[in-house]
Amino acid sequence: MDLFEYQAKELFAEYGVPVPKDKVANTAEEAREITTAFAAEGIPQVVVKAQVKTGGRGKAGGVKLAANAAEAREHAGNILGMDIHGHTVHTLWIEHASDIATEYYASVLLDRSAKKPLVMFSVEGGVDIEQVAEETPDALIRHHVDPLEGLSREEALAIATEGKADADVREGVADALVALYEVWLQEDATLAEINPLIVTPEREVKALDAKVSLDGNALYRHPENQSLADSENEDPLERRAKEEGVQYVKLDGDIGILGNGAGLVMSTLDVVAQAGGSPANFLDAGGGSDAEKIKQAVQLILANDAVRAVLFNIFGGITRGDEVAKGLIAAFDEIKPTVPFVVRLDGTNDVEGRRLLQEAALPNVHAAKTMNEAAEMVVALAAGKPVGAPA
Ligand code: GDP
Ligand code: MN
Repeated sequence: MDLFEYQAKELFAEYGVPVPKDKVANTAEEAREITTAFAAEGIPQVVVKAQVKTGGRGKAGGVKLAANAAEAREHAGNILGMDIHGHTVHTLWIEHASDIATEYYASVLLDRSAKKPLVMFSVEGGVDIEQVAEETPDALIRHHVDPLEGLSREEALAIATEGKADADVREGVADALVALYEVWLQEDATLAEINPLIVTPEREVKALDAKVSLDGNALYRHPENQSLADSENEDPLERRAKEEGVQYVKLDGDIGILGNGAGLVMSTLDVVAQAGGSPANFLDAGGGSDAEKIKQAVQLILANDAVRAVLFNIFGGITRGDEVAKGLIAAFDEIKPTVPFVVRLDGTNDVEGRRLLQEAALPNVHAAKTMNEAAEMVVALAAGKPVGAPA
């Protein structure tokens, strides 16, 4: 769950990561008013920053310095509505402009293979950090933290020293690292990143940019962060699925997929892709899906207009084949789908399930014996080619 820069900076401020003074604006006029107010405090220069959940805003023209309120208004007008890598700008961040002497990089993330938090620091900041890692790997310090001990100030100071931060700002860098680690830890973030972490000519250390991703699965521990779960950017179908308690992820293809158990669904996606098809979704109906739940799942899959054929891949364990068949029959009764279905039923009560489907003689439903056969059938059907006789 990615946060906007301004949301990340609000968290930074809470934990003592130094950030410039700033305010959100939703219109060009608001940007002008904020800048006028800042100027009254003696700082007329601001940066107008597009709030979109993607990097490289600077290069795309979404970050502009303004010398005064009129300029801020003009930049705001230009940036609002701009498309940055497929994200439309609706919100701006108006920030006191900072003078920059040096740009560093700092981040905290979870290194899953090491099973430890990883703190990264580099004096080569302000640029794409993947590029630094590739071209000058020695300039990127990678330090694993003992998850039970946390990041001590001594450790942070050692990171700043090893990373060759200017000697006079190492204390400031260490403080910022410790505070950044606290944001990451306390907020259950998966990533907390500052690029650039700047040093001003006055030798102050400040986070000029902020990127925080929160672990959506830990949201229940942070009810105050619920409002950050920006539902306007969420896919409406995924939101509906979440409300219904269905494990659904929308994908870009045209073949609807339903299976029981995440592992089986993932293999189904692979097999469909191997057969030359493109899945429209991931949907795990879960164990013990009853008829009502299957009906709900079918409705969800078909609510995606891109779907041209649907594959049901059920391996009965806890889930009973006859229940799935009943659900499908009930769904067809109610929804009367216009796209073809391929059903592969195997395992618990599969014979009974297939018998029910046969008796119902649903229009445009095809039975397959194996997963590969099912995948090939559904790919052909999605492409508008006929396959065998309906089940
Ligand atoms: P990004 O391009 O999405 O990573 O956005 P950033 O917030 O990192 O801003 C891009 C670049 O704009 C930074 O690397 C800085 O070089 C520049 N920038 C941002 N804020 C200021 C500022 O207050 N003063 C100056 N001089 N440059 C800034
Ligand atoms: Mn940046």
